[in-house]
Amino acid sequence: MTLALHGTGVSRGIAIGTAHILERGELEIPQKTIPAYLIQAEISRYQFALQVASQQLRVIQDHIPKHTPKDIAAFIDTHLLMIDDPMLKEGPIKIIEQKQCNAEHALKTQGDQIIAVFLEMDDPYLRTRKDDIEHVVNRIQRILLNQPSEKSNIIDKLRGQIIIADDLSPADTILMQHHDVVAIISELGGPTSHTAILARSLNIPAIVGAKHVRQYIKNGERIIIDSLANVIIVDPDNNILAHYYEHQKSLLRKQASLHNLKLKPSNTQDRKKITLYANIELPEDLSGVKKVAASGIGLFRTEFLFMNRSQLPDENEQYHAYLRVIKSLKGQPVTIRTLDLGADKNFHTNLNTDLPEKCSALGLRAIRLCLKDPSLFKPQLRAILRASAHGPVKLMIPMISNLLECQQVLELLETCKQELKKRRLKFDNKLPVGCMIETPAAALMAQTLANHTDFLSIGTNDLIQYTLAIDRIDSEVSYLYDPLHPAVLRLIQNTIKAGIKAGIPVSLCGEMAGEPFYTRLLLGMGLREFSMHPSTLLEVKERVRSSNTKKLTTLTNKILKCDTSDEVATYLQKINSL
Ligand code: PEP
Ligand code: MG
Repeated sequence: MTLALHGTGVSRGIAIGTAHILERGELEIPQKTIPAYLIQAEISRYQFALQVASQQLRVIQDHIPKHTPKDIAAFIDTHLLMIDDPMLKEGPIKIIEQKQCNAEHALKTQGDQIIAVFLEMDDPYLRTRKDDIEHVVNRIQRILLNQPSEKSNIIDKLRGQIIIADDLSPADTILMQHHDVVAIISELGGPTSHTAILARSLNIPAIVGAKHVRQYIKNGERIIIDSLANVIIVDPDNNILAHYYEHQKSLLRKQASLHNLKLKPSNTQDRKKITLYANIELPEDLSGVKKVAASGIGLFRTEFLFMNRSQLPDENEQYHAYLRVIKSLKGQPVTIRTLDLGADKNFHTNLNTDLPEKCSALGLRAIRLCLKDPSLFKPQLRAILRASAHGPVKLMIPMISNLLECQQVLELLETCKQELKKRRLKFDNKLPVGCMIETPAAALMAQTLANHTDFLSIGTNDLIQYTLAIDRIDSEVSYLYDPLHPAVLRLIQNTIKAGIKAGIPVSLCGEMAGEPFYTRLLLGMGLREFSMHPSTLLEVKERVRSSNTKKLTTLTNKILKCDTSDEVATYLQKINSL
């Protein structure tokens, strides 16, 4: 009987194959008392297990396929470093000595403590880093318990199959790529889990967080994964199969043609040049930017440099982080957004500061927080200024709600320039400064802001939240989150018009920029710069290249006069089928 199951699709693609369920089997960790005269022997047994674990990882490292991206191989390096870290190298030994217990129990105690610290972190990315600890601890436990660590012996038989597991370690995933596994389903993990990151980079269709799927799928059963639609179809009938084979073929054709677009210009049919920038969170995200040949960085979310740490990054540390991005962009522009902490992006650190640990979406966040505490803000401004001596940099201010905030930033920037001059440090004296349009107030005042700044950038994620009065992280009201709400579209339109009138560039860097369904509408509204996650850039480029801005005007005008989102959606279908 055909059955549809759900999870989170983390890499675009369709896979059809037979299911192979990997049973890991929970490890039974014994707890024993070790007599004093055997403690040293128990410690040696633990130390030997660490050596074997490192050796196993080195063997995997030597077998990583040549074309595997560097950042993927880095997962293995991380695990090797963890084995060598005092928390695993020394922590369990202290527990063996203090509790006079066996190595397995000591390792479990230590591992649970470390995992508890990671689970406390609010940042979803760092929270999933606990997976690394689990994988490493698991590897050492299996050695202590004399159980096989790698799934490689099973994996060998898995060519062409869809693997279903509770969770997969980076080492398992790399081996799977090596053995031509067609897709992965895991019961655990979210979009930022390791399995997800690896699957995306390796281009393996994958669905994670598919809770309890192993209860509903039998070994050898035929299944389809549609990771775009977040669905797993078990035992499909012939009609469904035929549909998906066709769908898969057309997707593969599309992917190949998208890759061909990488070096093609992003011009419309009527030769309008459209600039496609990438959004990044950390300097580590640069490899994705290179893969799609983005025209630069339209949004560098610097707050990620400040999170989950015990000390604020100082001017120098920030300068070096920005410099790394600028150097890697080789002359392409880098738009650095000043600290946007607060609401969904909290410090969640042990920082020794008076700054609020948490604040609401309407509270002391983003530029409000920075202006309130120059000791937090000025080092960042100086770091950005210093970085601007090495390549084209733009400074972008988040969550502006009035002109005064913008003027205060410009004044502080001037003070920082004077300070750098005294220190004889170089910077770009003409560093362009722009405002993000994220509040209805800023969108309505866009003309005023445009007259005082060098560029505007529309942050639709927040603009939608504040215009529609819905907390963007509250799932209870997420049904109201609507980029096509006529009020949102009119505010976007007002901002674009203001930029055109003032003769300054306007870009859009919220999630809307990366959704090809909206591309033509935004082009029709006059938008010429988009900034998005690199993974969506080529699809947007394709839409740009197939559009003729002259033909978009009539329908765009109709859309801007609509009373409801449903009406907008109907016209949007039309504009997309032009
Ligand atoms: C936005 O609000 O659209 C935006 C780009 O900023 P962030 O998602 O970081 O709030
Ligand atoms: Mg925002």
